[in-house]
Amino acid sequence: MPAIASSKSYRVGRSKTGLGLFATMPIKKGTRIIRYFGPILDSKIPAHDEIENKYLFELNGRWTIDGSVRKNLARYINHSCRPNAESDVRPRERKVFIRAIRNIEPGDEINYDYGTDYFKAYLKPIGCKCESCEKKRKKLRAEARAEAAKVKARKAKKVVAKGSNKGSKTKAAKKKKLNGRAVAKANGRARA
Ligand SMILES: [Zn+2]
Repeated sequence: MPAIASSKSYRVGRSKTGLGLFATMPIKKGTRIIRYFGPILDSKIPAHDEIENKYLFELNGRWTIDGSVRKNLARYINHSCRPNAESDVRPRERKVFIRAIRNIEPGDEINYDYGTDYFKAYLKPIGCKCESCEKKRKKLRAEARAEAAKVKARKAKKVVAKGSNKGSKTKAAKKKKLNGRAVAKANGRARA
């Protein structure tokens, strides 16, 4: 028997994007956390093929698990681009297990990568909200801010430099005038 986490190792809770599944105890790397289950749909049956919901888990070209059933708590697991779990897909058994690929600490949200097709179809258009992507965005924003601040500082420096140049030029010009005329004037005034 592979290591299977007890049902108490997770709970449904609030995540950034709605609900999510969170660890309630340490889950070791390699542990089977939960099974993703529901009615098996056959794409060759038109009535099955018409079923549309966001919890469809494609096993292969033919078989899909309809994970929208209430008891399937694995449906709460959100996507991450840098996940701590993976989906162990067994098309022949028509079963999917979610398995830890890292040690997971209590309180951690459990995530797995939904795959490229899902990402392109649903996440890319609205922007992936997983922690990894949020961090990347935050970093980019910080870099953009730092760059903007640098540009601003450079501009301010130029203005200051221009201002002081002007100041010294006029001062120098005034001095020259003073040296030329005002000395005589002052002398004249002093005399008068
Ligand atoms: Zn992401």
